[in-house]
Amino acid sequence: MKIVRTIAEARQERARCPSMALVPTMGALHQGHISLIAVARKHAPKVAVSIFVNPTQFGPREDFSKYPRPIEADLAKCQAAEVDLVFKPTVEEMYRPGLLDIVIDLPSLTNVLEGAKRPGHFKGVCQVVAKLFNILTPDVACFGEKDYQQLRVITAMVEALDWPIRIVPCPTMRDPDGMAMSSRNAYLSAEERQRGLAISRALKQAAEQVKAGYRQTNRLITSMQHALLEQRLLVDYVAAVDPLTFKAVAEVAGPTLLAIAARVGSTRLIDNTVVRP
Ligand code: AMP
Repeated sequence: MKIVRTIAEARQERARCPSMALVPTMGALHQGHISLIAVARKHAPKVAVSIFVNPTQFGPREDFSKYPRPIEADLAKCQAAEVDLVFKPTVEEMYRPGLLDIVIDLPSLTNVLEGAKRPGHFKGVCQVVAKLFNILTPDVACFGEKDYQQLRVITAMVEALDWPIRIVPCPTMRDPDGMAMSSRNAYLSAEERQRGLAISRALKQAAEQVKAGYRQTNRLITSMQHALLEQRLLVDYVAAVDPLTFKAVAEVAGPTLLAIAARVGSTRLIDNTVVRP
């Protein structure tokens, strides 16, 4: 496994591979990331993982400085997953002094849900992913459905810019108790984790209600909100939207994205599921 820290070295390594799949990450790797690496391997002979906690996608009061950075453990996990190339640039390498800010935005997708609660977040995501795509020129890039809106925004960005990169969606990996795996779960105390389980439970219950014939999304949303408030979670949003446009839907008439963002103590968690009539 080759580990590179500069853009020049990354380009050199890339030039040696005929075809490459990229898994962009912020590190603190867990089974969710490893599952993306496994999917990537099915799509290309060489797999690259980027590890970069991107400052431009964090808000001023968010957890950029305290975000976990267990680099030795991350490299060992990449090695075990037989990753070919790890690109781990510094902030100064990615955002050299003097570089001007560039904005790629898809406002119809980014003004809602996470974008509404985290202003500027997706501008940072598009900026860093565009840079990674230009540096590593992957043929395939894998993104998790755990960050459903991010996956959709990146897919739309690639389409809108005619980028010859196949974006592969990967299913959300969960712990046995149902909690969606996330690097931020490390912030939770045992008690907070128990309360945080209300999120995946609420989504599961809503999916069961849809299976049982419920179609009105306001009823689904209300019962999800109740489940979260019962565990004293601070709800950012509970939404039922079209999974392509993110427009709110009143009825589950086709595929419908149920998405939750809520805080347990000071930790903000997101999760989602797609239900069908
Ligand atoms: P992050 O390091 O949190 O920025 O995530 C890097 C990639 O891993 C993104 O495409 C995420 O959507 C994906 N990811 C994060 N958590 C999970 C999970 N539990 N299951 C599947 N993919 C995930």
